Amino acid sequence: MLEKRDFYINGEWVSPVTAKDHEVIDPSTEEPCAVISLASEADVDKAVAAAKAAFPDWMMTPVEERIALVEKFLAIYKERAEDIAQAVTMEMGAPIDLARSSQWGAGYSHTKNFLAAAKNFEWIKPLGDHAPDTMIVHEAVGVCALITPWNWPLNQISLKVIAAAIAGCTMILKPSEESPLDAMIFAECMDAAGFPKGVFNLVNGDGATAGARLTSHPDVDMVSFTGSTRAGIAISKSAAETLKRVHLELGGKGANIIFADADEKAVKRGVMSMMNNSGQSCNAPSRMLVQRDIYPQAVEAAKAAAEQVTVGNAHEEGRHIGPVVNAAQWEKIQGLIQKGIDEGATLIAGGLGRPEHLNRGFFVKPTVFADANNQMTIAREEIFGPVLTMIPFDTEEEAIEIANDTVYGLTNYVQTQDGAKANRVAKRVRSGMVEMNGKSRGAGAPFGGMKQSGNGREAGVWGIEDFLEVKAVGGWALDAAE
Ligand code: NAD
Repeated sequence: MLEKRDFYINGEWVSPVTAKDHEVIDPSTEEPCAVISLASEADVDKAVAAAKAAFPDWMMTPVEERIALVEKFLAIYKERAEDIAQAVTMEMGAPIDLARSSQWGAGYSHTKNFLAAAKNFEWIKPLGDHAPDTMIVHEAVGVCALITPWNWPLNQISLKVIAAAIAGCTMILKPSEESPLDAMIFAECMDAAGFPKGVFNLVNGDGATAGARLTSHPDVDMVSFTGSTRAGIAISKSAAETLKRVHLELGGKGANIIFADADEKAVKRGVMSMMNNSGQSCNAPSRMLVQRDIYPQAVEAAKAAAEQVTVGNAHEEGRHIGPVVNAAQWEKIQGLIQKGIDEGATLIAGGLGRPEHLNRGFFVKPTVFADANNQMTIAREEIFGPVLTMIPFDTEEEAIEIANDTVYGLTNYVQTQDGAKANRVAKRVRSGMVEMNGKSRGAGAPFGGMKQSGNGREAGVWGIEDFLEVKAVGGWALDAAE
């Protein structure tokens, strides 16, 4: 078993102030695979003090130097790809092929996109021709607490750490206690890249102690959080006492609107996208709304697609899906499947219990419910497992109404070959992102939600702006040397 008890504070790996061990469980085997420490308030205070001390110099470092360090980091992150993929597979159960490609790859591509955005960013610019000596200066927010979940760990860590570093912020990363190992390798990459001490710090810990201390600490200027809506509410309250800037990326219950004129692969694509990462994606298309004219065929196609999805040990190569992250999630998903049955939806694939060939590990059957309505629990709650809910609709108006009838607003999906209809619907669904006809968003597009899905915009230029203050300076000496 790996022993990873130290934290990365002020440029070195240090022991916790008070030992509090926590076992990391491999969800494919249910066996402990590592032991980490959970930070106390004293550990968090040490990390915040380091970030605070490092801030004045880091903020004034020329942006070219910050970019050069991120470039160095990226080369090292690439060298460590296999270590990172293995860690993700072991701690949160993403199958190794997925871990090597999308899980590791998300960190790589976000970092590349941030570098491109940073090079073109206007850090200082005049207000306009009417006031040439008024300058708009973008500067770092300050000390940032970065709190991340376990489902796409490197995606979220890179979206926060790299953007904050480029912006000139100093930071304390607290990854999920479910997936601390990839984050510790990420920290080793930051260390090897040579960031000045105190710029980047990592503490492991839980929400109740480390998370609560970080989000209420008087020396933390901003909290960037990705995780559940429940924790997002707690964090907003905790940060309110000191009026911190709080950016939230929370849950979702995306609608995938499939019109009768959708392309023939639309249903299958929707099922596959739902099952990816065992359904543990905030932007999963978890409500499939199907126009009634094609509803019977769509149910058949969804059943066939779900039955083709295989489930297996995450350490084995292949295109199967792995387990869900832990026992609590497995139980929660089982409870919601039972609710779907009890509330009268038609189970057409999967169902309760593990797949027959697996008697250990947190494995869930790829499950599809048909004939649901939008008031059922399986249409309202984020299940965060491989469970799809199909709902019929008649008209475009009704589809939009159902899509918007949720507290969430992260990603919606539209499938139709009528371009005018697609664009019209994209404008009317209330979500931070819309993906149509199987096309995802381009490199550097902003990621974030509306309503209870949060308020931040991560990735690309928007992701950097999230970590910047805007300062207006009048009387700028235009002829002064730099
Ligand atoms: P979670 O909210 O339980 O935990 C996320 C992180 O917050 C962990 O690091 C945890 O230790 C910490 N935390 C928990 N309670 C806290 C508190 N009171 N104060 C401070 N920190 C606290 O979520 P999870 O189960 O790890 O992740 C799954 C959730 O994340 C899902 O709801 C999913 O939709 C959401 N998510 C959202 C996005 C997005 O960008 N919108 C992306 C991925 C995941």
